[in-house]
Amino acid sequence: MPRRIVAGNWKMNGSLAANRTLLAALLAAARERAPRDGDAKVDAGVEVILCPTFPHLAQVAESLQDSTVALGAQNVSEHASGAYTGEVSAAMLAELGCRYVIVGHSERRTLYGETDAQVAAKFVAAQKAGLVPILCVGERLEEREANATAVVVLRQLDAVVAAAGVAALSRAIVAYEPVWAIGTGRTASPAQAQEVHALLRARVAGHDKSVAHDLSILYGGSVKAGNAAELFAMPDIDGGLIGGAALVADEFNAIIAAAAKESK
Ligand code: PEP
Repeated sequence: MPRRIVAGNWKMNGSLAANRTLLAALLAAARERAPRDGDAKVDAGVEVILCPTFPHLAQVAESLQDSTVALGAQNVSEHASGAYTGEVSAAMLAELGCRYVIVGHSERRTLYGETDAQVAAKFVAAQKAGLVPILCVGERLEEREANATAVVVLRQLDAVVAAAGVAALSRAIVAYEPVWAIGTGRTASPAQAQEVHALLRARVAGHDKSVAHDLSILYGGSVKAGNAAELFAMPDIDGGLIGGAALVADEFNAIIAAAAKESK
């Protein structure tokens, strides 16, 4: 069974003070949901991940100690070390307490020109350091309008399978994030998202049915408290990667609650 996961991508937002307030509200809610079965890593059947900026990782790591909430980063270098000014390696992220890292977010692909091959190299580098990559795939509006959604998302997925092997997906998460839905307030309908999630799972199943069966595929793109439940009710949507709403404690907590309800 895929794990239910809700991950918050804080993007380039936050400050020490603002994070303290947000974390206090998120952790208070996490304590209320605290599992009674003694599994400290599972939060009411949902794995919750926070991905702050690099400079805030240490602060957030400290706050999350002894909580059910896990830490992730938003990006990683494909290189292990060396003369790569401004870059951060997977080993550094692991040392700071990250268990997850987002790779191939559409903002990285579009604004910083990350290619499929580079994203695949980042995926491999992350796993080498013991991190679980959250691989983002998604089509731009003009690609959807040209009926190229399947071609684009499968190309993005295939690049990682070619570089890392399909078995590597058993230690990864995939997030389908249609670019036209990110930060726009425009969400894919549950049926539109389900169609792409099923397509991605089928592609993985073509290589390995068991890996596909257990793969968590998250939806991302303007998920909010008000639309989370209908998205998470879809059979191949295993949770969400949340941007804007992850910065609002009540919204994010309500999204986690919606995922917890679906996991029962
Ligand atoms: C994201 O940045 O991954 C995202 C899904 O953003 P938003 O929820 O704001 O659309």
